[in-house]
Amino acid sequence: MSKWVRVHTADNPPEAVFIRGLLEAEGIPVRLKSMELWTAAVEIYFAEGARPSVWVPSQAREEAERVLAQRDRSGIGRPWTCTCGERLDGQFTVCWRCGASRPDDD
Ligand SMILES: [Zn+2]
Repeated sequence: MSKWVRVHTADNPPEAVFIRGLLEAEGIPVRLKSMELWTAAVEIYFAEGARPSVWVPSQAREEAERVLAQRDRSGIGRPWTCTCGERLDGQFTVCWRCGASRPDDD
């Protein structure tokens, strides 16, 4: 049996589910903890340690951290608005309308 390690603590359940999707897309098995607590009683969400956390097998930890670091750098999934006013989806790093690069301080 694999030993599981925590690689991320999410601010909310949707974020945890989003992270799981990113990791599973890379072929990494994922377990979420605290989700069931959160759905059982919303107030427990505010309790210490009740935030949903993302766990992977210890042998997949390095790969998982690489995926998470990449996500932090690129901001994948977050839409952005170009200086020209064009609204772009998160996967685009350059505005298709004016050619400007995505600002770093999104
Ligand atoms: Zn633009």
